[in-house]
Amino acid sequence: MARSTCMKCDGSRFELAEYTPTSSKFKFQFVQCSSCGGVVGAMDFMNVGAMLEDQNVALKVIAAALRVPVRL
Ligand SMILES: [Zn+2]
Repeated sequence: MARSTCMKCDGSRFELAEYTPTSSKFKFQFVQCSSCGGVVGAMDFMNVGAMLEDQNVALKVIAAALRVPVRL
């Protein structure tokens, strides 16, 4: 497997950093180089995928209790 590297300093260690961009109403998690802080990616602060998965599980439980078919 290829090793991910920072395009700025060639570092290979990364970390998450919470950040709210100017004029933004939302926080993000930046994936940044641990050495120089160069940002290589940004993700929602709230893990939307995990939230959707939790909601799907809850909806399936409710649908089963109501005996209503759902496709999620
Ligand atoms: Zn770097």
